[in-house]
Amino acid sequence: MSILKKQDSKIYKAIVGELKRQQEGMEMIASENYVSEAVLEAIGSILTNKYSEGYPGKRYYGGQEYIDVVETLAIERAKELFGAQHANVQPHSGAPANMIAYNAVLKPGDKILGMDLSHGGHLTHGHPMTLSANIYKFIGYKTDAKGKIDYKELEKMAIKEKPQMILAGFSAYTRQINYKKIAAIAKKVGAISMFDMAHIAGLIAGKALPSPVPHFDIVTTTTHKTLRGPRGGMILCKEKFAKAIDKSAFPGFQGGPHDQVVAGKAVAFAEALKPAFAKYAKQIILNAKVLELELKKYGFKIMFGGTDNHMVLVDVFASKGVSGKEAEIALDKIGITINKNMIPDDPRSPMDPSGVRIGVPAITTRGMKEKEIRKISEWINRAIENHASEEILKEIHKEVISMCGKFPIYKNLM
Ligand SMILES: *Cc1c(COP(=O)(O)O)cnc(C)c1O
Repeated sequence: MSILKKQDSKIYKAIVGELKRQQEGMEMIASENYVSEAVLEAIGSILTNKYSEGYPGKRYYGGQEYIDVVETLAIERAKELFGAQHANVQPHSGAPANMIAYNAVLKPGDKILGMDLSHGGHLTHGHPMTLSANIYKFIGYKTDAKGKIDYKELEKMAIKEKPQMILAGFSAYTRQINYKKIAAIAKKVGAISMFDMAHIAGLIAGKALPSPVPHFDIVTTTTHKTLRGPRGGMILCKEKFAKAIDKSAFPGFQGGPHDQVVAGKAVAFAEALKPAFAKYAKQIILNAKVLELELKKYGFKIMFGGTDNHMVLVDVFASKGVSGKEAEIALDKIGITINKNMIPDDPRSPMDPSGVRIGVPAITTRGMKEKEIRKISEWINRAIENHASEEILKEIHKEVISMCGKFPIYKNLM
């Protein structure tokens, strides 16, 4: 980056600062990860210069001989990775992917039965502030006291509400969802079934979790969370919906695809097809399980009764009398980055909720395993219990930096 350094030192310095933060910090935001240097090269490439509205072989501008190679590879690798009938790799991110999917198969005013946000659903699944909530009528289903989805209740709701779509998927829910049951309920009421696997796509690609792809009409995802690709989105669907999805992405919702990101997706999908990625996905599950058990040992209340995936949702307020926001700040001070998060039907406010969400995908990419997770759990407990003591927090921070140094990332960058 010597050219950038010379030409724009302010931006250069900020990037170097962020690199250092990523190297020295323990990244435990459940939706983040570290992409490979090969992915970084692809997304930093001259492909960013090209306009290629349309799809391989059917473009609106000339000069597509290389772009078509890139997008075709991305599509074929995505289909192979997930066993999908059709893949659209153009969505700029997860939120647009969902908007594109809704727009492909629904009319304004149609009903979507989706997971309640405080029970783990995503903003794009019906938060009143979103565009999709202005266009469609969302109805939320919840988890029961044991933290499971009550499928009988869901079926009752579906029969009563007659939604055009039943949507599953989450950003903060930690249990395995019964794909077959949800798909069967959708079929019974004549609704389209959609699954948003943004958080767990990498675990599914690595076969550490079962795949929703055979069961749902449409599956959307981000490519930058557990899947460890560039920041972006993707839609997989049954052949029956292929044309509608493609038309809805372009020209329906987006303009030209970001070809440099499509290339990054192709590179990441090839990485995810390798045996090493399956090992990575399995280690994520092992690490999250240890995190759950250790935090329980320290007296933390784990929501939904535990985890089957890559993260835990912890009610820190009920456990330690410390709010989600206070816990986030304390952990920030020791170099562990997490996020405050609502718990189901949270009595506190979204800006200062009861919980925190803690995920292991990024630190697992660095090579951290059970032994490190045990140490990290100890630090998390100590920091939260001593959130008012700058001295203790400083002490722990040194230890966190030291452990991060033993699991280097981006050694040869810049
Ligand atoms: C992250 C996420 C999204 C949104 O992805 P962006 O890339 O931030 O737009 C959508 N759905 C779910 C379930 C997510 O977890």
